Formats: sequence, structure tokens, C-alpha cells
Amino acid sequence: MNILVLGSGGREHTLSWKIAQSNQLDKLFVAPGNAGTAAIATNVGIAPTDFDAVKDLVLKENIEMVVVGPEDPLVQGIADFFAQDEALKYVHLIGPSKSGAILEGSKEFAKEFMSRHNIPTAAYQSFTAESLEAGYAFLETLKPPYVLKADGLAAGKGVLIIDNLEEAKAELKKMLVDAKFGNASAKVVIEEFLSGIELSVFVLTDGKDYMILPTAKDYKRIGEGDTGLNTGGMGAISPVPFADADFMRKVEERIVEPTIQGFSKDNIDYKGFVFIGLIKVAGEPYVIEYNVRMGDPETEVVIPRVKNDLIDLFRAVANGTLNQKTLEVDTRSATTVMAVSGGYPEAYEKGKEISGLDEVNDSIVFHAGTKMDGDKVVTSGGRVMAFTSFGKNFREALDSSYESLNKVCFDGIYYRKDLGFDLEA
Ligand code: ATP
Repeated sequence: MNILVLGSGGREHTLSWKIAQSNQLDKLFVAPGNAGTAAIATNVGIAPTDFDAVKDLVLKENIEMVVVGPEDPLVQGIADFFAQDEALKYVHLIGPSKSGAILEGSKEFAKEFMSRHNIPTAAYQSFTAESLEAGYAFLETLKPPYVLKADGLAAGKGVLIIDNLEEAKAELKKMLVDAKFGNASAKVVIEEFLSGIELSVFVLTDGKDYMILPTAKDYKRIGEGDTGLNTGGMGAISPVPFADADFMRKVEERIVEPTIQGFSKDNIDYKGFVFIGLIKVAGEPYVIEYNVRMGDPETEVVIPRVKNDLIDLFRAVANGTLNQKTLEVDTRSATTVMAVSGGYPEAYEKGKEISGLDEVNDSIVFHAGTKMDGDKVVTSGGRVMAFTSFGKNFREALDSSYESLNKVCFDGIYYRKDLGFDLEA
């Protein structure tokens, strides 16, 4: 089978790496890909949101399965585009329809979905410029800190957590009236602050049945001890030590089952990954957010722990036969540490030559912001590459990731050395 993976990050390199291990694969294409995917697949320079270009490629190369990495094409309706096109409707597209992708595309929709299906989440209300005064009044009923969320996609920057009431009111006005996040903040969800520890649960579903994939915890801030600016993610650990069997039973009963049943009840066509951002508060799980695709860098630890043939699982998702599959998981821990460009997540330079990759033998290197420059691998983004390792616990796996990182060099390289600081080994 010929397969196309859409996207260009560490997530897509990991999915491609796993797909490439299947003996059911004939040819693998990645659009647009990076230097890592170039080594195992054919990179094609088209944007995942250019649906007509994706269609031409699929038809030209006899592609039978398309795996969508990032959220943008899903929120823009790539699954519906495939389902409605006579020439494409037999292609297996792994990713939800637009009606499902809106769970990530609109925070208000996600909150309404959770409240309709009794899924535990923070109490909330949503507001527009017309209801600004009601927004102020709602803020006055809450205790600090105040959580303000732009309804639409804002590249991970649309959530503000503010300690002071007057400042929260001023920010609410900026979001609603001054379009601080453009159209994404035409509506704002204000919610109760939950205090606890976060983790992510990933589910693969064909819309009726589901499989809960390994849990992961990511590290979002640039600085050690979870300080400084937010990033796309500086590393991840799987499994999450505090997500024990009792907690996961609650997650399955209270969150995963009602979510999947909610898709059927609401007539949402959902074939793909659900990424559930959770917070554990006094032992109980609450949903912080839904994403409609895998996380990055969580994919770099979750997918290597899955022992099944990924093409088999994806085929079952597309055919609605996931109930016939059993997930097999590597019981070891996996960790990934992201090497980033100096200055990221603010301004940084690109085009730095990466050396030492040949000396890495205990980790799998998943490329993110890299490209080929002649026969050299050079940096081309903020997050450059992720070093994934296994161990009998996450400490042992981390030692191995850090040892590999010590062998690799590029001008300005930075990575966090304290992953797992908040977890018991
Ligand atoms: P991401 O960058 O993960 O896609 P996002 O912009 O979609 O995030 P959320 O995940 O909803 O937004 O929120 C971002 C972060 O803000 C969360 O990871 C969490 O740390 C914090 N947060 C969000 N809602 C709450 C809440 N109700 N209580 C406490 N913290 C919260």
C-alpha cells in the first residue's frame, strides 16, 4: 500500500518511522516532511492545507491511505474533502471530519460537548464583545487565578492565566474588543482554575470503538523547573507514573467512553486520534482540552511503545473494525528530549549544521526543524530534533537520551536537563 503522511515535525517523522516498519508498505510519501523523513520516505513540497495539491499527489502516486499529522487541515475539513470527492472517497483518511475537528477548533464547542455528555471539566461561561459586561461580572464571581481562553486556534498562545482581577478584565476587553488574537478571540471562554498535575491520554477510534494508547506527560516551558515562555514542547515521558490503574479506570469510564459515545450521539464522523489534555485534581481526572490529532513531542514516546503494525491499526480505524484489534504495548518507559535552536521560542537563527548524528546509537532521533543542505543536515526551525530512548524506568531512559544529546552539536543548541523533575522515579 502507498501511504502519505501530512506534516513536517517530529510527530510526522515518528509516524513515518513506524509506518516504514510495516511489511504492508510499498511507498511512503511525506508532505512537506523534513531531513529525517527524507531518509525513509519521499518528501513532496506541498502544504498539508493545499487540498487540491494533496489530491493531485494521491491520484498520481496511487496513494491508498493518508495520515494527517497537524490540526489545521483537519479543522479546514480535509476529511470531508476526501469523503465528498468521487475519486478520493475510497482512500483511507486517518483524521476526523470537520464536525469532529471543531473540538479543537473551538474551545466553546468543546466545553458545550463536555457539558452535554457529562464529562468532568472546569466550570465555564463564554462571552462576546456584546456580553463584555457579563464577562466582567462572571470574573467577579471567580477566585484568582483567572483563566481566559480565545475560542479559536491561536497557535498555543490563546490561553491567559492571570492573578489580578483588574488585569483579567483588561485582557478580556483586549481579546473581545481589540481582537488581541484576531478572529480567534471574537469569543472568549472564561473558566474556573483547576490546580493539579497535567498529563495526556491518547485514544485511537473508528468512531464506535476505541483503543487507549500509552499516556504521556510533556514539558511545555522553555526553562528548567517549568519556568519561562511556553514552547511547542521540550520533551515527554511515557508512561506517566502517577496515572495508575485506578486513575486510568476513572479516565476511561468518565471521559473516554462518554467522549466516543458523544461522537455517535452528536453524529460526528470521527476516525483518528483524540488527544485528551487532562489534569489530576485530588486524584480525580478533569479535561483541560481536546486535540484532534497526536501531540508533538508526545508522539515521539507514545508511538515507539506501540508494538502493533500501525498500518493494521489505521486500516481497522478506516474500516470500522477496531474492535477486532488488541493493542500491544512495550512495558518499558520511553522519554524524548527536544533539542532547540538558541533563542527559541523567541527569535533564533536557522541553517546551522548538525554534527554527531552518526555517533548516536542508544536513541532514536526524530527530526523536527531540519532540512538537507547538499549532503549536510541543517537546522530549519525552533524545535530541531527529539532524542527518544527506552529504559526500565523513565530515569534510565532519560540518562540514555541525555547521553545521545551529548554527542550531537549545532551552534546554539539548547535542551532542558531536568525532565521528570516533578515525578517520582
Ligand atoms: P496547547 O498549547 O496545549 O494546544 P491551548 O492553547 O489549546 O494549549 P489549553 O490546553 O486549553 O490551550 O490551555 C493551555 C494551558 O493552560 C494548559 O496546558 C494548562 O496548563 C493551562 N490551563 C488551561 N485551562 C486551565 C484551567 N481551567 N485550570 C488550570 N490551568 C489551565
